Amino acid sequence: MFATVLGVIPESEAREYVLQRCATLPEQRSVLADAIGTVLAESVVAGEDVPPFANSAVDGYAVRAADVAGAEAAPVELDVIDEVAAGAASSATVGEGQAIRIMTGAPMPAGADACVMVEDTERLDGGSRVRIGRAVEAGAAIRGVGDDVHVGTTLFEPGAIITPSVAGVLASVNAREVLVVRRATVAVLSTGDELVDDGSPLQPGQIRESNKTMLVGMVREAGCDVVDHGVVRDDEAALEATLRHAADTCDAIVTSGGVSMGDYDVVKAVLSRIADMRWMQIAIKPAKPFAFGLLTASDGRQVPVFGLPGNPVSSLVSFELFARPALRRMMGHTVIDRPTVEAIADEPLQRRPDGKTHYVRVRGGFGPDGRVHVRSVGGQGSHQLAATAAANGFAVVVDGDGVPPSGTVPVILLSVV
Ligand code: AMP
Ligand code: MG
Repeated sequence: MFATVLGVIPESEAREYVLQRCATLPEQRSVLADAIGTVLAESVVAGEDVPPFANSAVDGYAVRAADVAGAEAAPVELDVIDEVAAGAASSATVGEGQAIRIMTGAPMPAGADACVMVEDTERLDGGSRVRIGRAVEAGAAIRGVGDDVHVGTTLFEPGAIITPSVAGVLASVNAREVLVVRRATVAVLSTGDELVDDGSPLQPGQIRESNKTMLVGMVREAGCDVVDHGVVRDDEAALEATLRHAADTCDAIVTSGGVSMGDYDVVKAVLSRIADMRWMQIAIKPAKPFAFGLLTASDGRQVPVFGLPGNPVSSLVSFELFARPALRRMMGHTVIDRPTVEAIADEPLQRRPDGKTHYVRVRGGFGPDGRVHVRSVGGQGSHQLAATAAANGFAVVVDGDGVPPSGTVPVILLSVV
């Protein structure tokens, strides 16, 4: 007992141990559609102006501003000499007393220096003339060359996350392929003879598998590709074969179960033998047991293995605190953690001193005072996933007597509150 307590390490030590051993994945060229969610590994300089030509911001008429200067006092009538839609160009030149019907995005015709929106006009003579009811200044409703992006501008630096809008900008300057940090492919498996995942009736002692289903989703949400390796029985040969195959085909492995002190903890037995593992007891609750190490693949790659505990809530917390930041680091992210805010506990978050930091699952949101307010989601047992599933934050309740009502507490935000 004493030995176990002495072996307990602070969370920061476990985190550092993991992060130091998770190297950034190689860079690769990627087409934009596949690059969304990855991290850019090069600077991107705009090779083109956006827009590439001056064009109309409205559906209406391209005019000479000087011709319509008096339109506020008395409407002005102009001859409509041509029509131009987006994707076309007019070869006509707008002269004095003339206009060209123009659609949004169509190039500005020569001679015109402003556009009037169709709502401020009236079609006359079947469209051959137009009455303009509003004066506009030169340049009105025109989108100039390079208004959005100037050629030669450095748009993005290495480390930028390729969000959908960033991908849109890259597409707009014809950067169809970019150098990115490879997205991690992560193997997920759960272990335990008691686990049933095929819908069959539960026999005595059996339970439904839940962790793998959850972890597959969490890995995907972290931005990785997932390979589901299913439920592996508490059988050393089967587990070794699965782990070796996973190491050969993936960038990281996430297991659940079998990492604590039980006699049938075969994950521990197998990984101790085939990988360079550290078996940890961490001063947190839940998720005290955790294992991390490197399994050498056939091609010599050192594949990180995250051995998460089997209790579902522990699995979730362990993934959040250790695996998610590490996977994000592997994929080149500079911000690897969720945001933490100083929140107000609208109810006491009681606890007793036990040498551990408690990650209390809470639900909260912004109050009228602009602060985040939280309450416990209820059942805090490491087997009570149903309560935890309602949480959108972890209150970090340090060792001691807890947080009094209306006291402040750091909260890791799992989703926007
Ligand atoms: P273990 O870490 O394997 O000792 O498991 C700890 C507890 O978590 C036991 O009650 C297991 O039955 C349960 N457990 C382990 N793996 C899973 C899983 N994949 N889904 C649901 N419960 C699990
Ligand atoms: Mg087990």
